[in-house]
Amino acid sequence: MASKIVEAHNKRAIVTGGTRGIGRAIVKELASRSCCGVLFSDVAFVYNSCDECAEELIKEIDFPGTKIYGFKADASSMDQAQATVDEAIQKLGGVDILINNAGITRDNLLLRMTEKDFDDVINANLKSVFNYTKAILKPMIAQRYGRIVNIASVVGLIGNAGQSNYSASKAGVIGFTKSMARELASRNITVNAIAPGFIQTDMTNKLTEDQIKKLVQNVPMSRLGKPEDVAKVVAFLCSNDADYITGQVIAVDGGMTM
Ligand code: NAD
Repeated sequence: MASKIVEAHNKRAIVTGGTRGIGRAIVKELASRSCCGVLFSDVAFVYNSCDECAEELIKEIDFPGTKIYGFKADASSMDQAQATVDEAIQKLGGVDILINNAGITRDNLLLRMTEKDFDDVINANLKSVFNYTKAILKPMIAQRYGRIVNIASVVGLIGNAGQSNYSASKAGVIGFTKSMARELASRNITVNAIAPGFIQTDMTNKLTEDQIKKLVQNVPMSRLGKPEDVAKVVAFLCSNDADYITGQVIAVDGGMTM
């Protein structure tokens, strides 16, 4: 009888901002689907506010053989990021995948934008990407394997009135992504960004129906995106099928920025 035993461990992923919207869909996608040549990913997600949402998500993910951990921490703090990553690596037994997804908006025209609104957005959206990337870097380099996906935004590419802080933070994420891709390519670590268009989450639930109607007029596919539309591209970028893709920004926007 011919036989073959392929030894493989689950991939191990850290996802920031995992309890809601796009991050939640990413956690579920990575935990549930065949990723990177093995069946499931074990996932540690980071969140900063809703404990019940974290508990619910852990309960919801019920795939045999998958480990899920939630960590409450502020992604904009380097100390908290390092402590979280250290503990997550201990629980997961290592880290193969980092998804920098945590983000906030504090929209206003620049004339009315406060310094705090600017700093808070840069810290949550851009500094957090630096924090988590730096914290996972040594173990990823040592194992000569890693997949990093940063969630940017189309407004980091084309700008948006009333979002100068948010657009600047996302343009920063894109520049950071490309620089890290160049630094890490020789270590077999790919670094890519996704630029979502308008995706239906708590972030866009603040928009009025009228605002959404106007936005959708600029989307050739005539609808808002779903969190799963983004999560599936994240999973692809973390899979072996994307081994030769690095430093790219993939727009998931229904054709809005073509
Ligand atoms: P959301 O508000 O529904 O969820 C954001 C998540 O980030 C939450 O889980 C929150 O707890 C977490 N978070 C925020 N600040 C944090 C911090 N300092 N520390 C730890 N966790 C923190 O938002 P979403 O729409 O799911 O957005 C996810 C990402 O996608 C963000 O980076 C956002 O900028 C980006 N994005 C969203 C859209 C959209 O239309 N929804 C479009 C483009 C890009």
